[in-house]
Amino acid sequence: MTTGVLVVGSANADLVVQVDRHPAPGETVLGSDLRVHPGGKGANQAVAAARLGARVGLVGRIGTDAHGDLLVGSLVREGVDTSTVLRDDAPTGVALIAVGSTGENSIVVSPGANARVTDADVKDAVRGASGWARVVSAQLEIPRAAVVAAAAVAEEQGMRFVLNPSPPDPLLDPDFAGPVLPRCDPLVVNEHEARMLLGAASADDPAPLADGLLRTGVRSAVVTLGARGAVVAQRAGGTRHVPGVPVEAVDTTGAGDAFTGALAWRLSQDPDLVAAVQWAVRVGAAAVRGLGAQSAYPRPEDLP
Ligand code: ATP
Repeated sequence: MTTGVLVVGSANADLVVQVDRHPAPGETVLGSDLRVHPGGKGANQAVAAARLGARVGLVGRIGTDAHGDLLVGSLVREGVDTSTVLRDDAPTGVALIAVGSTGENSIVVSPGANARVTDADVKDAVRGASGWARVVSAQLEIPRAAVVAAAAVAEEQGMRFVLNPSPPDPLLDPDFAGPVLPRCDPLVVNEHEARMLLGAASADDPAPLADGLLRTGVRSAVVTLGARGAVVAQRAGGTRHVPGVPVEAVDTTGAGDAFTGALAWRLSQDPDLVAAVQWAVRVGAAAVRGLGAQSAYPRPEDLP
């Protein structure tokens, strides 16, 4: 049965320390004990889909260091196929996260092995998964050439391509956007990313943002709106607002990755984009009810 998802993307060890206040340049502050969590947008999306019951594989690179062992161990425990996660002699990607007393984070990311993912890695993996995966889902925490390859080979193999362009900056480069945007079905962005990509000023109504993204050449677009849910725009189907699900939000970290992983999994089973967004909105809402990213991702029975 070909109803799986291949996620092409990053895996990081998130090193988290709580601080009373963030240090100024040149200053040292003391923080809490260190906590180490598996993270990275690719791994987050893969775990989100796996928790929901998906057949899911990850394409990426992880170091041969202790962080790499931790990440591979956690992916395997979650049921993610790691046969296309290569072990590299570069250090595993790391996010150094200081969480301030009012919850605001300052984050430094060291991409490490994520920056070594090649277009050849991706081509081989996508072709190898064409017998079981129907959707290829990517983000932008790996080299641009790898994402271009993911989009092109997904199309070549008749697989649907989903892109969550975080961080969004590469899409402002026409040489990158040209081969990638017309293959996105959908492009999934949050409101801030949508405004940045469109150069749009703040507006109260997000529906025109999703419509505006269609004019960039994508096949369909989804703009996530936090507690307000998401807006879907499709060439043939017009624009639809899918309302949010009211929950008590504890920590919104990784909500967007939970949303996109769930969306990709649902689309691999049924191509109806609005139905997939309705389901992903429930998954995103469940993911904000607990602390952390992957640790808060729901199983089907946890959905509101
Ligand atoms: P993050 O960067 O924190 O991972 P994001 O900015 O990419 O998230 P959001 O639009 O904040 O993405 O959230 C993605 C989805 O998660 C929303 O569409 C919604 O379904 C759900 N969600 C996020 N915040 C809330 C909330 N406070 N209440 C209910 N659902 C939420």
